[in-house]
Amino acid sequence: MDPFLDGLSQHLGPAGLVTDPADMAPYLVDWRKAFSGTARAVLRPGTTDQVSAAVRLCERHGVGIVPQGGNTGLAGGATPAGPGPQVVLSLARMAAIGKPDPIGMMVEVQAGCILQTVKEAVAEVGRQLPISLAAEGSAMIGGVISTNAGGVNVLRYGMARDFVLGLEVVLADGTVVNGLKPLRKDNAGLDWKHLFIGSEGAFGIVTSAVLRLAPSSRSRQVALLCVKDLEAAISLLGLFQDRMGETLSAFELISADAMRLVENQCGLAMPVSGGAWFLLVEASSSLDGLAAAMETALEAAFNSGLVSDGTLAASEQQARSLWALREHLTEAEARAGKSLKHDVSLPLRRMEAFLERIGARLDEMAPAARLNTFGHLGDGNLHMNVILGDTPAELASKISAMVHDLIVEAGGSISAEHGLGQYRLEEWQRLTPKAERDLAIGIKKAIDPNGLMNPGKAIPGAGERI
Ligand SMILES: Cc1cc2nc3c(=O)[nH]c(=O)nc-3n(C[C@H](O)[C@H](O)[C@H](O)COP(=O)(O)OP(=O)(O)OC[C@H]3O[C@@H](n4cnc5c(N)ncnc54)[C@H](O)[C@@H]3O)c2cc1C
Repeated sequence: MDPFLDGLSQHLGPAGLVTDPADMAPYLVDWRKAFSGTARAVLRPGTTDQVSAAVRLCERHGVGIVPQGGNTGLAGGATPAGPGPQVVLSLARMAAIGKPDPIGMMVEVQAGCILQTVKEAVAEVGRQLPISLAAEGSAMIGGVISTNAGGVNVLRYGMARDFVLGLEVVLADGTVVNGLKPLRKDNAGLDWKHLFIGSEGAFGIVTSAVLRLAPSSRSRQVALLCVKDLEAAISLLGLFQDRMGETLSAFELISADAMRLVENQCGLAMPVSGGAWFLLVEASSSLDGLAAAMETALEAAFNSGLVSDGTLAASEQQARSLWALREHLTEAEARAGKSLKHDVSLPLRRMEAFLERIGARLDEMAPAARLNTFGHLGDGNLHMNVILGDTPAELASKISAMVHDLIVEAGGSISAEHGLGQYRLEEWQRLTPKAERDLAIGIKKAIDPNGLMNPGKAIPGAGERI
């Protein structure tokens, strides 16, 4: 008899409690297979009340809770870490989608809804949820909100935070806070939902959300361009911003080496060549006239001498093939062996010097390693990953520290969109000014005094050493 598991079983029923080691295994390792952990059980509640009851039991027994959505996070945030008993709490069974409101432009969804399923549901009423990630077929709304996910359309629409109108959360003592207000404007007091957006489950469990929608794009134009250097890429960003205005919805940067990896590892062919960098440029609109505007912008780009080669997708199918190259970058990297992820952002004007310094330092430190660089150039966000090859394992943390030191010197951030999880927590501790750390830790202590919400991730809890 185990009073903790018996209590959970009573509250959650057989569908809501997994204790068999083989059935628990997929919940205990992350997408990259870089992190694994142990848990007393995996909880799969079907309602907010069940989440609340389970959390109360965990509090009573001093068991930490690791919230989990689609388990596609890239920072080990959804995998148990550190000492002390823990459970994984999966939101997968809470996947109801309310009726989208096309005029109020919003939809209420539960945390376990798959992002792509929500996008499909709102498309049926002529609206879109423009949060676009290669993992959208598995990532869940609760995870997307808790990581404040970015993706390829941030340039135009903003990050996940910009889509959250209301939230329902369960706190570490089981209290349900229902803020599911379908309001665009609400300045009545503290806008507390922002504490939970992007805090990676360290403050509480997101169970439902009201999301803002955007008008559907009726047409899109997608081009793949080759440029010789980063300076040309940044100049072209300016050119497309001027010419395409608010229709510019993505401006992605991919190094020629990263593109070659997609060709070799995933068997996709590059339709253009001839430069150190590729740019994937997308414009989209709900009005007519986009094709003519894009053609004029491309003509100006070629005439400027900044582009060495390029192609404009002539059909939606071709547009998808161009995007497939971008969407396979993470997978191609995973197939190429062990890598270190660096998800940095910095001011555009400092990017070129930063890239040069990183390249030179990496050659000195680890000649067998190679950079795999791509990112959302329009957002100043680079995924500056290092494929380790034969590099000795003990150099890994030194390489990441070098990248992070240089990013801090350049006035940037060590995590533009993937979060800290357990992967970057020590680096956050090392590089964040004390006043800022104390503020985050103080809020954590106030909301989760026993440090039971996602221990060892994102924000250190009371008495937690990292
Ligand atoms: C191929 C690929 C491409 C990706 N591309 C991008 C990209 O372009 N931009 C980007 O930002 N990210 C990207 N990611 C990372 C990942 O997809 C996002 O972080 C996504 O938002 C995670 O959602 P999830 O449901 O899988 O969350 P999980 O991985 O399950 O969890 C992520 C974090 O959120 C917490 N959490 C999950 N659900 C809840 C909840 N209901 N309440 C409280 N906390 C919760 C977890 O504890 C964990 O800390 C990519 C990942 C992959 C594998």
